[in-house]
Amino acid sequence: MKAFQKEYDVIVVGSGPGGATVAKELSEQNKKVLILEWGSNAPIKGTFLQAAKMIGIPGKNVLLTNKKKMHVLVRGTTTGGSSVFYCGTAFDPPFEMLDSYGINIRNEIKELKNEIPTQPLSDELMGPMASRMMTSAQDLGYDWQKLNKFIFQDKCKTGCWRCAYGCPYDAKWNARNFVEEAVSNGATLVNGVKVKSVLTDGNKATGVKLKKKGLTYRVEAPTIVLGAGGIGSAEILRKSGLDNVGVDFFVDPLVIALGKVPDIKKGNELQMQAGWHVKDEYVMTDLAMPKTPMLSMMIKIKDDLGGRITDRGGCKKDLTKNDYKKLSDGFGHAKKILKNAGVKRVTKSMVFAAHPGGSVKIGDAVNSDLKTEYDNLYVCDCSVIPEAWGLPPTLTILGLGKRLSKHLLNTQA
Ligand SMILES: Cc1cc2nc3c(=O)[nH]c(=O)nc-3n(C[C@H](O)[C@H](O)[C@H](O)COP(=O)(O)OP(=O)(O)OC[C@H]3O[C@@H](n4cnc5c(N)ncnc54)[C@H](O)[C@@H]3O)c2cc1C
Repeated sequence: MKAFQKEYDVIVVGSGPGGATVAKELSEQNKKVLILEWGSNAPIKGTFLQAAKMIGIPGKNVLLTNKKKMHVLVRGTTTGGSSVFYCGTAFDPPFEMLDSYGINIRNEIKELKNEIPTQPLSDELMGPMASRMMTSAQDLGYDWQKLNKFIFQDKCKTGCWRCAYGCPYDAKWNARNFVEEAVSNGATLVNGVKVKSVLTDGNKATGVKLKKKGLTYRVEAPTIVLGAGGIGSAEILRKSGLDNVGVDFFVDPLVIALGKVPDIKKGNELQMQAGWHVKDEYVMTDLAMPKTPMLSMMIKIKDDLGGRITDRGGCKKDLTKNDYKKLSDGFGHAKKILKNAGVKRVTKSMVFAAHPGGSVKIGDAVNSDLKTEYDNLYVCDCSVIPEAWGLPPTLTILGLGKRLSKHLLNTQA
C-alpha cells in the first residue's frame, strides 16, 4: 500500500457541512489539514446534467431504502456534500435534546449566525408560488411563516430555478464556502478519493486507507475526523471493525403534494421559502420544482428510528405505521391549503428522503466530544445526532463542527 508523503495534523474525511467546518476552523489556527473527498471539485454550473452526476447516480447518490415501495434517499457527493444541492433552510438546532447529552452549542450557533446568512427572504425575493401557498395557509388559520435561509440575498435572483441544481451565482451559502476558506488557509483538498477504513493500532487510530483511481493508499495523521455523512461515516466505521454503528437511524422521509393552477406558469423560485412546523410530527413548506408549472408542497416527517446501513454502503429502512400516518395527516393539510390556493386536483409523489442521520449516535458510538472508542478518531456529521427531530440539520451540524474544533484545539498538541 503506497503512502501519502506529506505530514498533516488532521485528516478530515468528507467535505459536507461537518467536515468543512472542522477543516476551516482548524486551518484558521494553522493546523495542517488534509481533506479527503469522494466527489469532484468541478465548479458548480447549476445545470441538470451536472447535478445528475453529483446527486443522481444510482447506488452512489440515489439509494433505495425500500426496494418494493421505491422509497428513495438522495445524497450529494462533491466538495460541500449534500449542501451544494440543499434548499438552504436554516432551522435552529434541537438545543434541549443536545443538552441532555451534555452538549451546548448555543454560542457556536451565535458565532455562525454572525458569519453566514440565516435570515428569511425579503418580500421582493419571495416567489409567486411560495407567496400564494403562504397566503392560502394563513387564510385557513395555519401559522405558516417565512423560514430562515442560508442565502446571500444581494446575490440571489428572482425567477431563478438553478439553486436545486447547485447555485452558480454564489447566492446559496453551502459547505463549499467553508472548504474554500480552509484551502485558502493552507488546507489540502484531495478529490476523487474514497476512504475505505480507518487504520488502528491498539486504542489509537493511525491513519486511513483509501482508494484513488483504483489504487490503494494509506495516509497518516495524529487526529482523524470522519465527516462522510449519515451513511458514509457508518460505512467506514463498520469496515474498521466497529459494530455499534449504522443501525436505528432517521432519514426524515417526505412526500410532495402538487397540482396545477392555471395562472402560474413555472416553478422558477427558491425552495422552502416559508412553512409550518408541528413539533414531533412534520414540517410542511413550499417546494417549487424547477421549470414545473405546479404548486408543490413538501411534507417532511420526524420518522421512527430503524433501518440498517449495509456493509457495502447501502441504506435499508422501512417506514412504520406511525410514519405513514404522519405523512398522510400532513398530506391532508397540504390538500386543503393547495385547494384553497386554486389547485383543482392534488396528487402525491413517492417517498423521498435526504437527511440520513443518527447512525453513529452521540452517547452510543461517540461520546459528547464526538470521540469514538479510539483516542484520536472523531466523527462530525449528521450521523452523530442522537435522536430524530424531523427538521433540516445543517445548522446543527455546523454548530457541532465548531464545538469539535474548539475541543481539538484545546486538547491536541
Ligand atoms: C435535496 C436536499 C435538500 C436539503 N435541504 C436542506 C435544507 O434546506 N436545510 C438543511 O439544513 N438541510 C438540508 N438538506 C440536508 C443537508 O444537506 C445534509 O443534512 C447535510 O449536508 C449533511 O451534512 P454532513 O456533514 O452530514 O455530510 P454530507 O453533506 O452528506 O457530506 C458528506 C461528504 O462526504 C463525502 N464522502 C462520503 N463517503 C466518503 C468516503 N468514504 N470517502 C471520502 N469522502 C466521502 C461525500 O462525497 C460528501 O461530500 C438537504 C439535503 C438534500 C439532498
